[in-house]
Amino acid sequence: MKKLWKCGVCGYKMEGLEAPENCPKCGAPREQFAALSDEEAKKVYDSYVTNDIHMEVIGLAEKIVHLSRKGAEINLDPGCLHIFQKAEADCYVIKEMCKAEIAGHISKGKW
Ligand SMILES: [Zn+2]
Repeated sequence: MKKLWKCGVCGYKMEGLEAPENCPKCGAPREQFAALSDEEAKKVYDSYVTNDIHMEVIGLAEKIVHLSRKGAEINLDPGCLHIFQKAEADCYVIKEMCKAEIAGHISKGKW
């Protein structure tokens, strides 16, 4: 039965019947790997999609920040400027909230 293995040196995780001979990230030997408990593994699996969504939202928000700055520079009229300034500020907040949420997940083993 496959297990989720975690490198005790760098934290790299991978699924497999047994731990790898060496950690793909840091090169640590198999003995440094430990199998996660079912409860720990469930947290990791449950968090995969959610963390990916957060990362995609961060990327989209960053794109909106960039576009909004460009639009604000053109400054076609006060209505446009207001929208671009608000979009930039709101997307900055969303981006930082997602990053903080991911950091919280990582601190709880949900990554
Ligand atoms: Zn490692």
